[in-house]
Amino acid sequence: MRLYFLDTFSVISLLIATSLSYPQDTPIPGAPSPWVRESAIAAILEDRDTWRDNHGLNRPDMYKNDVVLRFLSITPDDQAALRRATKGMNMDIWDSGPGFTDMRLPKDGISPFLSTLPESLQSTYMVLIDDLASAISATYPPSREATMPQKSRSHQPEGLFFRNYQPFETISTWLELLSSMFQGDLVEKISIGKTSEGRDIPALRVGLGPAGSNAGSGSRKTILITGGLHAREWISISTVNYLAWSFVTSYGQDELVDRILDTYDIVFVPVVNPDGYEYTWTGDRLWRKTRQNTTMPYCPGVDLDHAFGYQWGPAESQTEPCSLTYGGEGPFHAVEAAQLAQWAKNEMRNNNVNFVAYLDLHSYSQQILWPYSYSCSARVPNLENMMEVAMNIAKYMRLSSGDVYTVDSACQGEVAIGFGSTYGEEGASSRRVEQAGGSALDYFFHDIKAKYSYQIKLRDTGTYGFLLPPSHIVPTGQEMFQALKYFGDYLLGNNGHEWMQTVDNQQVLG
Ligand SMILES: [Zn+2]
Repeated sequence: MRLYFLDTFSVISLLIATSLSYPQDTPIPGAPSPWVRESAIAAILEDRDTWRDNHGLNRPDMYKNDVVLRFLSITPDDQAALRRATKGMNMDIWDSGPGFTDMRLPKDGISPFLSTLPESLQSTYMVLIDDLASAISATYPPSREATMPQKSRSHQPEGLFFRNYQPFETISTWLELLSSMFQGDLVEKISIGKTSEGRDIPALRVGLGPAGSNAGSGSRKTILITGGLHAREWISISTVNYLAWSFVTSYGQDELVDRILDTYDIVFVPVVNPDGYEYTWTGDRLWRKTRQNTTMPYCPGVDLDHAFGYQWGPAESQTEPCSLTYGGEGPFHAVEAAQLAQWAKNEMRNNNVNFVAYLDLHSYSQQILWPYSYSCSARVPNLENMMEVAMNIAKYMRLSSGDVYTVDSACQGEVAIGFGSTYGEEGASSRRVEQAGGSALDYFFHDIKAKYSYQIKLRDTGTYGFLLPPSHIVPTGQEMFQALKYFGDYLLGNNGHEWMQTVDNQQVLG
């Protein structure tokens, strides 16, 4: 049901009308002026506010009695004790890393939980988020923020759209707008497939491909960037949008972006899980999975990062429908995972696409992770290159903003989820958390042959976790954009040297 969808004709009509009224003052070939762009975006946000008025947002009060705690577990014994305590409790583990585990608990459940822990752990925790209901409310846009922009407004890409997180239909319409605004071969809105509830999974293909300067050169080299596999990780969605916007609006103005898009297509899929994402706006802000029916009527949803067909499901928690890491009844049981994989295979078969790289954005903990996720004993054959690029991605993100990202194998960085998982005593000292089969990361590396595949967990390191305030949208997007430019330069064979020169010239580093 799409009560407020602004269709393509409306968008184009709006554009034409506004284009006739105001001068085109932008140097981007074939693009409307920034003022026209902002006016069209303001119209989309007006529609969003109407939708919001009609639907209401989810009930933050549902978490008013909960807090998020961080347990410090330095020793392997502590970690094993935490695993034992959470096992079978279907707890919402937010993140887990070297020496810490973050989890959501009801306030009146803290004491009973502490009593299950050894004494050494009972005093080594801190409260990360005390007022969860307020933190949730602060992630939604204020009501009625959208107003038509003044002509004097500064024409920054972070204008209206990136001031707040946006609901799914607003994003879908905005992608349509981008493909309408930038005529020609540079931008094309495509569909990856349909979700279990029937929504389109929209994407933007940006690049000149074989129709451009690369015509006749054979395969269409493509970088795939996904966000929103996990519904509550909103920053991953806004960042994919920001990257798409940045590449589109930098074309013709940034020599390195030109060279990247002359050689590579980049396909941006901001919301792989639209049903789940929609539900974080209308039902439960902390929802993680899809909304597909399972064999348990009260436990819908599949964890898309455990739903792909490579090394699917070695862990017990992945076969329990009520688990937050439920991977479905079998490989690709999750509709959205199946659609994404099928789309990729069709692109390879029908359009001569060669996926050279895959970036899967998540949150939180600021980590760059490489395959394999399913096992720490499986090593990728290009490990040295994989690590080198990961370290450089982290480096350029730090140079952009000062934020520190760590690098690791995904088997070490995977989130620990308590319910029914197979945390054995065996191996507990050599790995932090549960092994994770069926990940998108492993699948695209192993089956789709995307040589450089990474899962990137964006901001922050725990202050807000999944409830990152919207003021982080632009800075997070900018640091990822700088890293992606380095990555593109590396793929072009320049190993980052050309990018460094560009940075020096523009004094981006400050
Ligand atoms: Zn995630």
